[in-house]
Amino acid sequence: MISALQHYSYCPRQCALIHQEQSFDDNEFTLRGQRAHRRVDSGEISVEEGRRVLRALPLYSERLGLVGKADVVEFLPDGTPYPVEYKQGMRHRRDHDDIQLAAQALCLEEMTGFEVPEGAIYHHKSKRRRTVAISPELRRQVETLTTAVRQMLEDQIMPPPVDDSALCRACSLQDLCQPDLIGATKRIHDLAEHLFEVDDAWS
Ligand code: SF4
Repeated sequence: MISALQHYSYCPRQCALIHQEQSFDDNEFTLRGQRAHRRVDSGEISVEEGRRVLRALPLYSERLGLVGKADVVEFLPDGTPYPVEYKQGMRHRRDHDDIQLAAQALCLEEMTGFEVPEGAIYHHKSKRRRTVAISPELRRQVETLTTAVRQMLEDQIMPPPVDDSALCRACSLQDLCQPDLIGATKRIHDLAEHLFEVDDAWS
């Protein structure tokens, strides 16, 4: 799933909980996100300012083995697809959103044969777009993350929590993940290992 790349780049453990354990929970951010998606989930087709606009468009890439859905794809008059991903919140650059958009762009390139040099993130709260160039670096990141996610799912690995309380605070899976508890358990484990080493040194 394209969304797995976004989840993995936010936090590999979040990706494993959702795509491996099939666990999900909502918080205020995910509920706001669902509200922001109401129109784009409708699948409505329209023509706006000379662009054909498709919503909830299914996407795939056989080359990368990806599937997903674009919130909005605008088709420019020459046929070039222009993906627009809707996000709740203020206009703010987030790497994981850019990766999701770049993965959509790579799918659209394969599906249509057109190059997709650019797309945008629409920030619902500020009602502003942020243009994102589909750069060689973003394209490389999509490929690297696709391999990493596939490997994680094949190996059934549950990665440790990220060491970033800001990410955890905004994450809807906090209760399922228990990052503080796991962090404390690891610290106790490390302390026990250290004490055994000291004990061995004395004996
Ligand atoms: S709570 Fe933190 S460590 Fe756990 S899944 Fe969310 S971001 Fe990752």
